[in-house]
Amino acid sequence: MAKVVIFSGAGISAESGLSTFRDSGGLWEQYKIEEICQSGCLSWNRENTLDFYDKRRAQLNSAKPNYAHEQIAKLQAKYPNDIAIITQNVDDLFERSGCKKVLHLHGFLPNIRCEKCATTQTIGYTKQERTFTCKACKGSLRPDIVFFGEPAPMYEHLYEAMEDCEFLAIIGSSGNVVAMDNFALHVKVAILNNLEKSDAINERVYTKVIYKKATEAVDEIVGDVERFLQK
Ligand code: NAD
Ligand code: ZN
Repeated sequence: MAKVVIFSGAGISAESGLSTFRDSGGLWEQYKIEEICQSGCLSWNRENTLDFYDKRRAQLNSAKPNYAHEQIAKLQAKYPNDIAIITQNVDDLFERSGCKKVLHLHGFLPNIRCEKCATTQTIGYTKQERTFTCKACKGSLRPDIVFFGEPAPMYEHLYEAMEDCEFLAIIGSSGNVVAMDNFALHVKVAILNNLEKSDAINERVYTKVIYKKATEAVDEIVGDVERFLQK
């Protein structure tokens, strides 16, 4: 298993033009979370919810990976067995920059998923056809996104990955959804990169804290990872 975990949140994709969740001025301010990404909203607000994710797919189609995604892809290509990439993001910008085996904790926007048997299929950046049903069981289909209040089956793999982790780098996550401080306490090196302090993170448990844009911080982070792996 990988010694290095690169854990990211919405902040790493901000410079690709995808709004973060909580930063002011973001897309999310225009929507009420409980109406489009909370458990149950597919039953009482189905069309608006599907429409919201159709728009996110269209937006993703015109977004491009940024320098931070690209440098992480290069690092992983150099040390394929040592680098695990785990993200809360549902975009495919890591994959598009060449990263392999990206663990998406909260789903994957280019996919839709059967509500009954959980089989996924890829629709890329297109609209979800409302009349289509699951090829395996004819169940109804939904965005492959983990809504608030729903189980997140991939968390199990996060815990597994953290068991072997010696070096943790967190890029662009406020810590409000997934709390990583406790993991940071138990690794040899923990680096945190955000734009600013977050009330949900205790920065004292990190070896190094970098308050800069991800594209400006990534070279330092990659350098630290390489020095760690070459020791
Ligand atoms: P968040 O919005 O709560 O926090 C974003 C963090 O990124 C903040 O700490 C902020 O300081 C930092 N940040 C903003 N711009 C940055 C930049 N250019 N460089 C470095 N850091 C920057 O995000 P979260 O912690 O990921 O939690 C939000 C939830 O929303 C997640 O569950 C995620 O799945 C979802 N989400 C995903 C996307 C996406 O897939 N691109 C976008 C929005 C929200
Ligand atoms: Zn099915």
